[in-house]
Amino acid sequence: MIDLYAQSEADLEALLRSWGEPAFRARQVRAWLYDKGARDVAEMTDLPKVLRERLAAEATLGTLTVVDEQQSADGTRRRLYRLHDGRLVESVLMPYADGRRTACISTQAGCAMGCVFCATGQMGFGRHLSSTEIVEQALRFATELIAVGERLSNVVLMGMGEPFHNYDASVAALRRLQSDLGIGARHLTVSTVGLVPEIRRFAEEGMQVTLAISLHEVEDAARSRLMPINRRWPLAELVEACRHYVDRTGRRITFEWALIAGRNDDEQTAARLGALLRGLSCHVNLIPLNPTGAYDGLPTDPDQVARFVAVLQRHGVPATVRVRRGIDIDAGCGQLTERHLRRAEGEASTPA
Ligand code: SAH
Ligand code: SF4
Repeated sequence: MIDLYAQSEADLEALLRSWGEPAFRARQVRAWLYDKGARDVAEMTDLPKVLRERLAAEATLGTLTVVDEQQSADGTRRRLYRLHDGRLVESVLMPYADGRRTACISTQAGCAMGCVFCATGQMGFGRHLSSTEIVEQALRFATELIAVGERLSNVVLMGMGEPFHNYDASVAALRRLQSDLGIGARHLTVSTVGLVPEIRRFAEEGMQVTLAISLHEVEDAARSRLMPINRRWPLAELVEACRHYVDRTGRRITFEWALIAGRNDDEQTAARLGALLRGLSCHVNLIPLNPTGAYDGLPTDPDQVARFVAVLQRHGVPATVRVRRGIDIDAGCGQLTERHLRRAEGEASTPA
């Protein structure tokens, strides 16, 4: 089967030419896929019937199958997909009151980085996603939004997996989100655990995409306990790569900080963070920890979050607290997959 979502305009032109169709048919088909949000060849009513029949017989629109979906009280939709080889990945759609519709999508099934607080890290590495599998997650939400007169406005590569461990596919996906889905670079974010060579490489891509770095601790020993990759790329090298990125691109960096009660949320830590980031063009996103199965940490309470923010402000570091979304449906990435894997295990070990 031909996956239409995997065809560039040139690929599709060549394919349709080999079927005896004029070149403009490729643009017509792509307009259906990306602008009009078709989910079935049957919808492409301005194509000749024979072409529609041949496409229906020989081509598919994507390869992802929805296996579960949950909607939270705040409108957040968390979806579990099965890939063609049976692997599971999650995507989330977050609607905001100001009209933004943000998709959070995965770049790998599982993750090799092993951050101890992360449900995806706890399950280990499955495989890299192809750029098309990454794009399809956003495209599926985009087509559903078109159907109700809305538009997918933002995409963050912050779902399962480490985008810079799957660098080429993630960067290719970022380019296609712009060229095929029409999402502006400034509405795209890629988040990394802190792979220093790839941060430097990304600085050369010439993209106006927002780069987010998951920091979570300001001292090497503590950060290494939380995020094993810190042993390979310690804080001094990471911060130097961030400075290089800001100098090279003129873009402000976002730092992610999961607030864990009694561990990294005291005022002294905030002051050290303020000192570390002083003079760097950046923004800190604070996210109270989402508790996960194999990690005993708890989220910081709102009063302590406010004290942490105040210290950062005194250091001239802008910070915002990210609203925890989809809390009632375990919306921390990897949690839905974890639940499914547990259930599958339970079924396998239950005598029939
Ligand atoms: N691998 C990339 C992107 C995916 S994780 C990265 O680590 O940056 C997206 C963000 O969610 C990261 O900032 C990560 O540290 C954070 N995160 C993971 N598990 C979390 C949890 N249980 N609570 C709060 N934030 C979490
Ligand atoms: Fe991987 Fe990011 Fe989770 Fe760390 S936080 S294990 S890098 S997905």
